[in-house]
Amino acid sequence: MDCFRRMQDAGGHCMKMHPMWQEPLAIPGGDRQSPIDIVVRKSLFDPQLKPLVPLYDPQTCQQIWNNGYSFLVEYDDTTDKSTLKGGPLEDQYRLCQFHFHWGESNAWGSEHTVDRKLFPGELHIVHWNTDKYDLFEEAVMENNGLAVIGIGKRHEGLQKLVDALPAVRHKDSAVDFERFDPGCLLPSNINDYWTYHGSLTTPPLTEAVTWIVMKQHIELAVFRSLLFTSAEEEVQKGMVNNFRVQQPLRGRTVRSSFSPFLKEAQSSAGEEPAL
Ligand SMILES: [Zn+2]
Repeated sequence: MDCFRRMQDAGGHCMKMHPMWQEPLAIPGGDRQSPIDIVVRKSLFDPQLKPLVPLYDPQTCQQIWNNGYSFLVEYDDTTDKSTLKGGPLEDQYRLCQFHFHWGESNAWGSEHTVDRKLFPGELHIVHWNTDKYDLFEEAVMENNGLAVIGIGKRHEGLQKLVDALPAVRHKDSAVDFERFDPGCLLPSNINDYWTYHGSLTTPPLTEAVTWIVMKQHIELAVFRSLLFTSAEEEVQKGMVNNFRVQQPLRGRTVRSSFSPFLKEAQSSAGEEPAL
């Protein structure tokens, strides 16, 4: 416990650093790191940004596992059955997994913030570029290798996940998990998003990611019963605060698919505004 380095999270709270971050990083951080704070009035409306086209086949869902930092729901990515294209993407990307980041209370937990507003958690749906690369391991090291959808949120669809969590409470535990459609985790309006070039927010932190951050947020279910530690370890440690601190923008532009000035006119009836 004492060997954990201490760091400040985005909310100014002191937190302990997860052991994963103590390994020497293969790729030192560059100028395109993630996550960032999205400053709405500084984002650039780009009318060329197209709607996102997620095509997910729930049959490709395989398992859920606790990797000691988060829990991942993994998909068979050997075929093009579950894909993402459109939006800021020029190529087709294949779904491989989704996971969450969350805090120890509802006051913080998201990685991206919007005008410094923190959310209780953030969902990341990870896809890799199969037009340009043969393997995920290759794509993760290269430009335009990955496309990650980031959403701060909760949804009824999450209940199936929450029910499966006790089985993967400990680090390294995994269970079969089938027919889960990640499309049910997307907000009702997927056409309004910010996009920028960034990095993975966990080691190796490679700057391979086209980030697509949804404007519409969702509330987050409680994942705090999970553990960072395996069943064999003596001191059990709750899995909370598994997010990375914010990184400098360093001259990058965040583009938006929507004009903030048309927000009211564009938001559909019955939707709660995200901002
Ligand atoms: Zn993530």
